[in-house]
Amino acid sequence: GGGHLVVAEPTGGSVRGESALEWISREYDLERGLAAGEFEPFFQPIVTVERGELAGFEALARWRHPERGLVAPCEFIDLGEKCGLIRQIDLKIMAEACALLRKAAGDGPMPFLSVNLSSQHFTDLDVVTGLAERLRATGFPADHLKVELTETALVQDPVTAYDVLCRIKDLGVKLALDDFGTGYSSLSYLHRFPFDVLKIDQSFVRELGNPGRTHHIVESIITLAGRMGMEVVAEGVETEDLIPPLRDLGCTFGQGYHYSRPVAADRMAEMLDR
Ligand code: C2E
Ligand code: CA
Ligand code: CA
Ligand code: CA
Repeated sequence: GGGHLVVAEPTGGSVRGESALEWISREYDLERGLAAGEFEPFFQPIVTVERGELAGFEALARWRHPERGLVAPCEFIDLGEKCGLIRQIDLKIMAEACALLRKAAGDGPMPFLSVNLSSQHFTDLDVVTGLAERLRATGFPADHLKVELTETALVQDPVTAYDVLCRIKDLGVKLALDDFGTGYSSLSYLHRFPFDVLKIDQSFVRELGNPGRTHHIVESIITLAGRMGMEVVAEGVETEDLIPPLRDLGCTFGQGYHYSRPVAADRMAEMLDR
């Protein structure tokens, strides 16, 4: 597309070896792409471990770039967080995913939808209004929406974050703690914040295939979360051999390439048709 800045060779000395001009150009391109409607949700099934039945989807952002093709989040989430566009991207993906899933479900049973919110949303109350507006606009049932956040969202300003989380719950939306097993992974967050769902990171889930101490830690966490009345989602279920241990531990849901990769909206609709 037009409107690209001509970028000089990286000169070094700036973040990630990028020149200031290159950085500005990437930010400009992100803003352009957002305005042009190039961001869309992909959908990855979340499946019951017990019966292998489709229960919901996680919406995962993709950038359909006119020159670069389909761009994965690792290429633009960081940039979006640094330049402040991430809040708009998150709400855009949420609204689009709500609208697409509602349409695809039609009169049939409505699967739940999980959406990712950057930690930047948890410094003030804007996101509460943002979510409420989009739930209203799309007619998506609030009790079928889950918001995923990581512990990073809680550490900087726990008091504000707590307030935001409570108000999101007041909308009827559920809360999921994402990537558990990476970062801080403090059990105190489970206890101090009103989470409904715990998502066990794939690095932890993989350990269920290995004997050893980490295996016992993962087992204990899944059991504990279950006792606390939380749903547990095992992420990164890549192989079938992980399913028996997950089932034995009473893990509610699984998500991963074994079930399905993230798919575009039309494939998601086909999955609901069957
Ligand atoms: P996440 O929230 O932990 O999402 C799961 C990631 O793991 C996805 O990568 C998914 O495609 C990948 N995955 C799923 N199953 C498997 C598996 O069996 N094996 C392996 N190796 N990977 C699997 P994706 O779509 O590239 O997203 C990466 C990250 O980008 C997400 O990690 C999330 O942190 C972030 N992200 C994605 N969409 C959004 C968004 O709309 N807003 C924000 N703020 N962040 C997003
Ligand atoms: Ca921001
Ligand atoms: Ca997630
Ligand atoms: Ca995750």
